[in-house]
Amino acid sequence: MGRNRADVKNTFIETFGTDPEVFRAPGRINIIGEHTDYNDGFVLPAAIDLAVYVFIQKSGSDRSKLISVDLDESYSFSIDESLAPVDQGWVNYFLGVIDQLQQVGHQLEGFNLMFTSDIPMGSGLSSSAALECGFGQALIDLFGLNVEKMDLAKMSQAAEHKFAGVKCGIMDQFASCMGKDDHVVKLDCRSLEYEYYPADFKAYDLVLFDSNVKHNLADSQYNIRRTQCEEGVKILQQVNTGIKSLRDATLDDLAKAKIAMDEIVYRRCKYAIEENIRVQEVCEALQAGEIEKVGQIMLETHNGLSKDYEVSCKELDKLIDIATNCDGHIGGRMMGGGFGGCTINLIEKKKVDEVINQVVDGYKMSLGIDAKVYRVAIADGVGRYK
Ligand code: ADP
Ligand code: MG
Repeated sequence: MGRNRADVKNTFIETFGTDPEVFRAPGRINIIGEHTDYNDGFVLPAAIDLAVYVFIQKSGSDRSKLISVDLDESYSFSIDESLAPVDQGWVNYFLGVIDQLQQVGHQLEGFNLMFTSDIPMGSGLSSSAALECGFGQALIDLFGLNVEKMDLAKMSQAAEHKFAGVKCGIMDQFASCMGKDDHVVKLDCRSLEYEYYPADFKAYDLVLFDSNVKHNLADSQYNIRRTQCEEGVKILQQVNTGIKSLRDATLDDLAKAKIAMDEIVYRRCKYAIEENIRVQEVCEALQAGEIEKVGQIMLETHNGLSKDYEVSCKELDKLIDIATNCDGHIGGRMMGGGFGGCTINLIEKKKVDEVINQVVDGYKMSLGIDAKVYRVAIADGVGRYK
């Protein structure tokens, strides 16, 4: 996916008769810290080398035009009209960002825009957040607006809530805005404080296997998990009044509360508490350069998500199961909300082609599904491109 950038630039010049300014906003991975965000816990995302590229220039009038090169669709509007969500899905990410900027009083003028992206859509690498952040940054630079990157992340999240109707957390937009080459970022989802950790995976590559399935259980089960976690907090508060969310609870607290807890709620809480501990462990392992340990901890997360939190599915489990049995695979887990999407894996560089073949073949053989493969590297967050 994603069109040649020099070609898009030329098309822009032919179409609009002006040279565009170009911006890049990346997709993201999350090394560890899954289903921890709404429990006020920690996540460990990084921006990647798959990105959206936004080509933009002032139109010289109040008229604006958006062109999706990948979908071969366009949308025209006036920057002065009052904005509301439209039927053309992708347009809403743009209108939502304009709406956010205008709401805090920023003055915009008309512009022409083309974009192309090599982030697969809907695979959990946050192609939507990249659109919002890339477009926001483009407007900020083009019109000389004074907006910090962290505020751009928050506005992009709000745009997605309001115009795309997706009540997402802050992680995706945060990673696309704040990501840094060669680093992961530990984000405290309660305070939004963050800390960079070096991410040199040494002899190992990051490989994503896309299960190519998406079970529609995801939304309903997500809401059920949130409720179960809240139920767990209520019981935990009886043993420790300081607990406001699962992030505050220890395994000791949980052991004391177990007797009063439904077995399922207990397992949900256990996973969430352990996962926060694992985020910290991975940060320490990265600092110590212990990459095999990172892989081990990722496998523990997968087990927790599959058995205790029960948000995996047979396809994701199969991808991890096959990979784990390959020589050179040191760890991996399902990534994202679950019930489909990608697994994220650490594979020895020297064996990476072999492992990829084995996983793709094995997956096809056992479930009849073609997995997609994305080899990714960590990269910088949103910014001007060349
Ligand atoms: P994710 O963010 O995990 O990739 P989402 O469902 O949140 O998945 O966002 C995908 C949506 O973002 C697409 O349905 C489309 O509306 C929009 N989108 C992403 N990439 C592009 C693109 N290259 N061209 C047009 N729209 C895109
Ligand atoms: Mg998204």
